[in-house]
Amino acid sequence: MLLNVQELKAAKARLTLRETIDVADLLSQVPGVRPAGPLEADVAAEPFGEFVKVAGRLDCNLEWTCVRCLTKFEEPLHFTYDERFKQVPKEVADLGEQDDEDFVPFHGDQLELRPYLQDELLLNLPLSPTCSEDCKGLDPETGEDLNGKPERPRPVKIDPRLEALKGWFDSERS
Ligand SMILES: [Zn+2]
Repeated sequence: MLLNVQELKAAKARLTLRETIDVADLLSQVPGVRPAGPLEADVAAEPFGEFVKVAGRLDCNLEWTCVRCLTKFEEPLHFTYDERFKQVPKEVADLGEQDDEDFVPFHGDQLELRPYLQDELLLNLPLSPTCSEDCKGLDPETGEDLNGKPERPRPVKIDPRLEALKGWFDSERS
């Protein structure tokens, strides 16, 4: 997705774009999530002083693996983004985004938005996706999915470390 910055600055107007980005390769390195469709990007770009302001919305339908019960489920991810890009000399652009700057540097008259949009997707992925807020997960002993199963009284187990402590207290008393 290339933005022609010269044209954008000359037009002094907002430019809107819509792009579909394949993210299969991008997500193949991320555990617990697979694309169930492409990344749909809405982009609105406008010149803003020495910057190019780019904002919009990203939508992607994804297939997740629940971290608690390991069930796969599909759920779309939607979020908005808002970023400032600044045209800089090549040496500066090569250094990449600096922590103390609130813009993304780029070099040349063409601004390639795809890497930025892909990064935004990665940054917005939840760390621990769950199929539902109250997912009960798997039984720690049997590995069976506890969702939809009636609540079972659990035998009270004493931690072996506490068991040892109990023995110690008993021996103190005697
Ligand atoms: Zn679950």
